[in-house]
Amino acid sequence: MTDKYSPDSLQVFVFEGAPVRGEIVNIRDSWQAILARKDYPTAVKKILGDLVAAGVLLCGTLKFNGSMIIQAQGNGAIRLLVLECNEHLVIRATAKLNDDIDLSSLADDANLSDLINPDGMGRLVITLDPADRQPGQTPYQGIVALSDNGEPVKSVAEAITLYMRDSEQLETRLWLASDEESCGGLLLQRLPNMGGQLNMDDAVAAEGWTRLQTLSDTVSNSELLNLEPKVLMKRLYLDESVHHGVRSFDERPIQFGCRCSRLKVADMLKMLGEEEVNSILIEKDAVETNCDFCGQVYIFDAVDCKQIFASTTIVDAVKQPPKSKH
Ligand SMILES: [Zn+2]
Repeated sequence: MTDKYSPDSLQVFVFEGAPVRGEIVNIRDSWQAILARKDYPTAVKKILGDLVAAGVLLCGTLKFNGSMIIQAQGNGAIRLLVLECNEHLVIRATAKLNDDIDLSSLADDANLSDLINPDGMGRLVITLDPADRQPGQTPYQGIVALSDNGEPVKSVAEAITLYMRDSEQLETRLWLASDEESCGGLLLQRLPNMGGQLNMDDAVAAEGWTRLQTLSDTVSNSELLNLEPKVLMKRLYLDESVHHGVRSFDERPIQFGCRCSRLKVADMLKMLGEEEVNSILIEKDAVETNCDFCGQVYIFDAVDCKQIFASTTIVDAVKQPPKSKH
């Protein structure tokens, strides 16, 4: 092997013979960083791994500076799944489990519907929070139910496909795989057939979309889990690149990273209110909280807490523009 293999990377490519873009992702180190922070049952790991791969693929399709947050919410053993990814492909993810359910009874191959959506009331929420969001500006949010014509959605791939169809009107296909070691995925997205290079006969465009799905359907879980994205791209679309052409972009690295901070926790305590915080301080010496995503522990003792409520500037100053005085 002469190529230096960056284990966590996203490969984006476009097909010359059809208005279709493709992406392949393989995530190993960042996935390990996510798993190291919480002990999840096997079935939960599988679904979370699929969401991590799907989230990076989806983020790769966006021309957007800021954070994309995918949340799957429901009433099952999993209450909430969260994946966050920004324009630099810095990711973090977590699952909140239902404490009332005996998790040891979960089948290892339980699907999304079994785990999060047993009553069909679950939903998928995708939020785009721009990096330059102004105070008072709300982030863009798209929501779809985790059911399709009354049928519960059984996989993360199906959920994202549904979201892209109903919310973005884009035909998208996803192939996902995850295990304890890595997670990987392949995305195909049909682009509008108009303008520039993509201007081709509709029948040719439709035939290309079908052809590329057929080629992609040959991908195995083992390939998604173990191959470097550009190696897999070349393997899957060898015939396509010979006859029509496949144009690939530079591989993009993916990293685990958290956005939590002491300031954000202070802000949260302030929202909680002085009375509530003081009642915690009566029972314990300090307010202690740890980040769901990275496990970082934040401790605020009585003096720290007093400071939070004494000052209007310590937390607010960074969030709101200075107000003019009359
Ligand atoms: Zn954190």
